[in-house]
Amino acid sequence: LVESKRPHVLAVPFPAQGHVKPLMKLSRQIAKHGVKVTFVNTEQIHEKIILASANAKILSGDDEEEEEEDNIVLTSIPDGRGPEDDVNDTFKLLESLRDTMPGYLNDLIERINSSNPDGKISCVIADITIGWVLDTAEKWGAQPVAFAPPGAAALAILRHIPELVEEGKFDSNGNITNGESITLSENIPAWRSNELTWSVPIDPKTQKIFFDCSLRVEKTLKQAKWLLGNTFYELEPAACDLNPNLLPIGPLLETNISKSRSSSFHPEDDSCLTWLNNKPHGSVVYISFGSLAMFSQVQLDELALGLELSGRAFLWVVRSDLANGSRAVYPDGFLERVSTNGLGKIVEWAPQERVLSHSSIACFVSHCGWNSTIEGLSMGVPFLCWPYFSDQFHNQSYICDKWEIGLRIDCDENGIRTRDEIKTKIDMLLSDDGYFKGNALRLKEMAVKSVSEFGSSYNNLMTFINQICG
Ligand code: UDP
Repeated sequence: LVESKRPHVLAVPFPAQGHVKPLMKLSRQIAKHGVKVTFVNTEQIHEKIILASANAKILSGDDEEEEEEDNIVLTSIPDGRGPEDDVNDTFKLLESLRDTMPGYLNDLIERINSSNPDGKISCVIADITIGWVLDTAEKWGAQPVAFAPPGAAALAILRHIPELVEEGKFDSNGNITNGESITLSENIPAWRSNELTWSVPIDPKTQKIFFDCSLRVEKTLKQAKWLLGNTFYELEPAACDLNPNLLPIGPLLETNISKSRSSSFHPEDDSCLTWLNNKPHGSVVYISFGSLAMFSQVQLDELALGLELSGRAFLWVVRSDLANGSRAVYPDGFLERVSTNGLGKIVEWAPQERVLSHSSIACFVSHCGWNSTIEGLSMGVPFLCWPYFSDQFHNQSYICDKWEIGLRIDCDENGIRTRDEIKTKIDMLLSDDGYFKGNALRLKEMAVKSVSEFGSSYNNLMTFINQICG
């Protein structure tokens, strides 16, 4: 361990929204206890976040200067791609991160350590997806720590990959052989090929490199002195038990964060909060598919018309690239009708946690990304599940079958979720006897307890902080 007067953590996320956000929330938790954190994004993501927070201020007409955050320094390193590389090419991104990140991080740590001998990097927290960062940490005598953005069930399968490969359960692209499913414990829903975290059926080349990165996770978990996860023991006891060195420290939540401290890649549009203030308690359907999911025009039309058909108020996040990379085109007259009757509000990006914690929200139509899942259940909101890819399908099984806090919106024979199915499921979820809402409120209570003083996640986080400060 390096000699230093004050612990200094270097936090290194994988450059995607669902990875940067929770690691930033964890960094703030640590910084609150007096630990210095240097948070390292790639240059592209760093610029995106700065621009998004500036634009969010313009959107809300808020030009007040906010104080700099204590204890957290934001910095960036190149992601290794050249100007000729396609920014949407995940394959290229992973390849260049693997090849160039250790060198850039090495230089960064060298600069920090030599410029401030009293504030040397004493601990590196790396996303499990980029575990090679821990080699650099060890080289500098810093404690290697891994952070797992997905749930404990996903983590359990990741750590078992090498033995499952040996048993012939996966082919070299990470598909389950013979189309079978994998059961790790009778208390965890079985995994099918399309539910694995590396699954990208539409792009086998990218899936292969995701799988190769996933193959390294086992080594990362062994190398890490601590493994922190955004979950809580009471939520997934069987899955947590399959991860012996996991410290569940979630749910990582942040409903009162200011715009300049948000790590959103898109400007958060606060106008939806004012709009929600004028809606009755428990009346609004919130629809959001995270940062990556995309839809065909046919599917977008069905969703728009299904929401209208439901006759309920809705708040819908429509990213500017939601329609297969382009701006959405709405059915004829849809926007005029829903704005005239006041039932619909559309934003490009919402302050999601503040939305989910708003008393006007009735339910969450979600793609079931792990962050959205844990945010929704921690706010006591029932779900309508609309998974898009990878572990989102497995999270759906937890939501519907294990926790019973939601329903699936099923596809028809053409793979489309029709307007009638959407309306039917909204009605079923909201006009029942409160069964789903009741279960969701029970989970919320457990979540709140786990992060409250002496709760399981609180204790785990304190154990970790005491160790890095010790
Ligand atoms: N999010 C947000 N505003 C939005 C939509 C999403 O702040 O309008 C946040 C959401 O709260 C979550 C993250 O973006 O923290 C998305 O992560 P998730 O794992 O749910 O999905 P992914 O984007 O990785 O598919």
